[in-house]
Amino acid sequence: MSDMIRDRSWVEINLDNFSHNIAELKRLLLPGQEFMQIVKADAYGHGGFEIAKTALAEGAVYLGVANSEEGRTLRLQGIKAPILILSPSLKDEIPSILDNGLTATLSELSFAQALSEEAGKRKLTAKVHLKVDTGMHRSGFLLENAVSAYQTIKGLSSLNLEGVFSHFAASENDAEFSEEQTRLFEAFLNEIKPLPPYVHLANSSALLRHNLWQANLVRLGILSYGAYLDSSQYEKLNLKSVMTFKSTVVQTKTLKKGDFVGYNNTWQADRDGRYGIVPVGYADGYDFLLSNCGSAIVRGQVCPVIGKVSMDMITLDLTATGEVMEGDEVILMGGNSNLLRVNQLTSKYNGSPYELLCQVGRRAKRYYFLAGRMISSAPLSRREFVSTDYSDSKLNRIISAAISQRLQNQEISQLVYHEVLKGIFYQKDHNIHYRSGFCHEITFTEESVEQGFYLTETKLTYYKNLQSDYFLVACANSEDVLKKYFLRRDVEYRWLMDSNFALTPEQFCITCVKINDIVLHTKSQRKDGCLEIFCTNPDLAGLIGTKVKFTIETVTFYPKSSHQLSVFISELTQGIDIRFNFPQSIKDVEAITVFSGQNRYPQVKKGQNYVAVQTNPEEWVFPNSGVVFAY
Ligand SMILES: *Cc1c(COP(=O)(O)O)cnc(C)c1O
Repeated sequence: MSDMIRDRSWVEINLDNFSHNIAELKRLLLPGQEFMQIVKADAYGHGGFEIAKTALAEGAVYLGVANSEEGRTLRLQGIKAPILILSPSLKDEIPSILDNGLTATLSELSFAQALSEEAGKRKLTAKVHLKVDTGMHRSGFLLENAVSAYQTIKGLSSLNLEGVFSHFAASENDAEFSEEQTRLFEAFLNEIKPLPPYVHLANSSALLRHNLWQANLVRLGILSYGAYLDSSQYEKLNLKSVMTFKSTVVQTKTLKKGDFVGYNNTWQADRDGRYGIVPVGYADGYDFLLSNCGSAIVRGQVCPVIGKVSMDMITLDLTATGEVMEGDEVILMGGNSNLLRVNQLTSKYNGSPYELLCQVGRRAKRYYFLAGRMISSAPLSRREFVSTDYSDSKLNRIISAAISQRLQNQEISQLVYHEVLKGIFYQKDHNIHYRSGFCHEITFTEESVEQGFYLTETKLTYYKNLQSDYFLVACANSEDVLKKYFLRRDVEYRWLMDSNFALTPEQFCITCVKINDIVLHTKSQRKDGCLEIFCTNPDLAGLIGTKVKFTIETVTFYPKSSHQLSVFISELTQGIDIRFNFPQSIKDVEAITVFSGQNRYPQVKKGQNYVAVQTNPEEWVFPNSGVVFAY
């Protein structure tokens, strides 16, 4: 199944084997016990996101990580389940803990107080678990302080003390010490009745030895990844390797009796033979201590590692395996063989299977398999988060590149980006400004004193956050001239008039500008072929930042010969109602709508003397939408 993979080295993550291991471990749970999947260190090098998803599907009720950054990464990837940070957090991590809804572990009081204070400021309640040190003497409250700490923390109003736990020092091979830890933890529990919702003590190995009836949660780590920690565990559980580390033979060579291989001549051939070069070294996580003692499988045959492990290469003795050729796949760790189980490899140098999984998983490209099929891969350099400190321009480039990838069409993506999104992103203060309840009513009447024109009254109302205590309304009779007003933030509204229209304050008269019920003072001036109307009122100062109702009314003259009138939507708008009332002399009006947004086809209603174009009040309409009324 890995025929198509041709990297120098890679890991295959078998999610079926992971599910199998979880099922094996679940057999050992007592009634009412649930499990937390430990996914710290990118799920022991297996990939936090995929393992978390699979574990949640298998029934995990909680995830455990090492720090706030790991929790944040999972949140960015869309994981909604509760996440416990197992180790003590720094005070600097508090904002991220609260932003991402992570559960902190409390091991001392000053952190608890700081967390409660910050949560209180944000009017939040932060979930926390209290950790008790029952003898491992790593993090956690010392037993003699634990009960009073528990009471103090219960009294902190912005914390929700959801759980208490402790951790075994040697559950895989020290029954006596583990029993003592269990006893001490139970004594602590007896003093804090009623118990919080979650009580947990066991890691995966402890599940095989100690069943604490009061604990309703166990924390599954290393065994779920298929590594045994003690020979006694083989007969109790049937575990499968989840991670398989693979590479390829890049070269084969012959050796003569007496030849040395590798740095410092640590291996010497005692017969003529063959050996192969595999492009994997300790920089790829293949531990240096496997020098002269590791082995790999090629074409089903076990091949010893000879000589020292180099930074980027190892050498395998192929003498006993007749046909190995360049390009053959090499299994370095995992697979179906017991021999290459991670704990078998680390036992050769008295190392830690936890460490070997992490160090291999850190660098290798990962391929995920489910039901024998590759379902996804994770690239070599993993940055599965979006930084919050990107500059705007960089973020904009990333977004525009992402749209282009997704649409697989550069031209359309540029259109979407520039026409739709850039307008929204343009506002530097990061508040998206939009209009809602947009109503625009235009009424033509015949009572014009000007020959060849309709007297035109317009009434525009909409809701929006007020940005300053003044704004401009601009009016021009050419698109080119009006363009520059789209770049200015103090221009609230723009009118494009017909080209054979004289731009004078008499021809385009703003009769009323209001914010809520406050009538604004207006002043018109001609400037560079435009009419600018400055609108202000000292009372606006108190309304800045709040949602207000804008009203703008005008009286103008519209040339009969024009035969069309357009209304454009230039800002993101929620809910539109544009109505054109016309005199009896106009027989028919056609409304040509060009809308983008949630609904491309707004309702067009026609009456005897009006046409109205409407959307539902909650419907979003993107900039550059509009309607042309042709008469
Ligand atoms: C890592 C960790 C575990 C998981 O332990 P395993 O031995 O991998 O099952 C459980 N609890 C805590 C607090 C941990 O840090």
